[in-house]
Amino acid sequence: MKLYRVLGNTVVSVFKEVWANSKDEAIERACEELHCLTEYCGNGGCDKLVGVDGSDESVAADDKIEWDDVEELEDDPDHRECPNCHEELDEVTGDNGETYWECPECGTCYDEDYEVVDPEDYFDEDEE
Ligand SMILES: [Zn+2]
Repeated sequence: MKLYRVLGNTVVSVFKEVWANSKDEAIERACEELHCLTEYCGNGGCDKLVGVDGSDESVAADDKIEWDDVEELEDDPDHRECPNCHEELDEVTGDNGETYWECPECGTCYDEDYEVVDPEDYFDEDEE
């Protein structure tokens, strides 16, 4: 499997309270006083959230995310995840020398192409 970073965009609404004599002046003053958004520390890093400087400023995000770009970060053929639970699969080698992958969560077993297999097919049967 490959590790991807998927990039998306969403609309954030920005609010700023300013005293002014007209709407145009209010927009001008908001522009002067808050011309860009700043990165904020939290949620696992220093570039995760949007922060503002004052209590009279606010940023609200409440729109759908439009996922529009994807970048490949890593290619690890040994990393295989269960298509159902997204748990990392355990590699198992059977008595016949062939490999299958077992999900530790749901117990489903897969071959190389993610076809569901029966683990009994990979081990010698003990006839009693
Ligand atoms: Zn599973």
